[in-house]
Amino acid sequence: MENKILLEIVTPYGSVFSDQVDEFSATGSEGEFGVLPGHAPFLTTLKIGMLTYKKGQETGFFFVNSGYAEIGPDKATILADSAERAEDIDIERAKAAMKRAEERMKQAEKIDFARATAAIQRATIRVQVAEKKGSK
Ligand code: ATP
Repeated sequence: MENKILLEIVTPYGSVFSDQVDEFSATGSEGEFGVLPGHAPFLTTLKIGMLTYKKGQETGFFFVNSGYAEIGPDKATILADSAERAEDIDIERAKAAMKRAEERMKQAEKIDFARATAAIQRATIRVQVAEKKGSK
């Protein structure tokens, strides 16, 4: 399709999004990047962050939990450990996950800091993304 790019967001839990969009941006390991139709092919790792797309007047926001992005001129695939649309994020669940991870952090010797830190990052970004409202 001319001037559109097929954006697919896939997780082990299933397909989260698949649609032709005008543009999107995501959070790569090296920072945020934007993609328009016709983009040169590239592959990048993703860190816990936000993905935003535009399709006409429609704007959407997703939480994306790490993974890979494979970009081609007319198709982009986001393979993430988990991902949710802003409207589908359960803020109370994210806050509860954050609280659990913070409690684990206090048990200094016993814990896996990298794991607890990642859980806090996921919860923090989920709450930020949930506060964004998409438009149709
Ligand atoms: P939790 O400890 O609450 O499970 P988590 O960060 O460990 O949080 P993930 O491993 O990222 O969870 O995701 C597991 C599944 O639960 C995925 O399908 C993900 O989309 C979903 N999920 C996790 N947290 C939320 C949330 N706050 N709102 C909606 N879906 C969520």
